[in-house]
Amino acid sequence: MEFFRWFILPVVLVFGCVQCRPVGPPPGRQQGPYGSAQTAVREINSSRGFTMAAYAKQINLKQDMVRAGTYGRRVVRPMQPRFITIHSTQNYTADASRHSLALKRGALRSAKTKYGNRIGFLIWHFTVDDHVALQHMPCSEQGEHADFHGPGNRLSIGIEMCENRGNNRAATIDRTAKLTAILMKRYGIPIQNVVPHYHWPRRGKHPPNKDCPHFLMDNHRPGAKWRGFQSRVNYYYKRLE
Ligand SMILES: [Zn+2]
Repeated sequence: MEFFRWFILPVVLVFGCVQCRPVGPPPGRQQGPYGSAQTAVREINSSRGFTMAAYAKQINLKQDMVRAGTYGRRVVRPMQPRFITIHSTQNYTADASRHSLALKRGALRSAKTKYGNRIGFLIWHFTVDDHVALQHMPCSEQGEHADFHGPGNRLSIGIEMCENRGNNRAATIDRTAKLTAILMKRYGIPIQNVVPHYHWPRRGKHPPNKDCPHFLMDNHRPGAKWRGFQSRVNYYYKRLE
């Protein structure tokens, strides 16, 4: 009996430690898309980092490219990305796969303004929903997603967040933050150059600054929600090895 007591106790202790070992996400990461910056900093200091490949796996990042020479990629316009522009689709029926299909079929035309557009088709780099992140074109090519001839198109990687019914918005925002962190690291883009579509005025449009991504704006412009998103991006960025 005496032996049993001394045998059982260490077994329980060891088993208990295995159970509580922080193999999953730390508690702060499960609070929803916006942990406080302080919580984030504590977690960065106490947790091991992640590689870009690990993040890519977590968000199920895949390529589903529009064929070079077709539709949005009819004209290849080289780009060295200096910004990352965040959008939301405002399409309540299509997930990432359906957007990808539409881009591959040339179904999304860019709006005509008197300032024109260069290729006539919308195209951007990534679409994210709550289960996949799809890449549509190389980050070394300009898209058509922000401001016609402006710097938003000429210098930025465009990411669209899905908002189809049934799609988990918090998960989509969180996965977009991870993708953004990967791209910052890969292309040396600082956090202040992670901007909402709102950042790029569209010449000839009223209002010039689009309320996009609308669910991260406060009163139709960047405020606390946008800053919360930025700190989430920064949190993931700082954990990258
Ligand atoms: Zn937008």
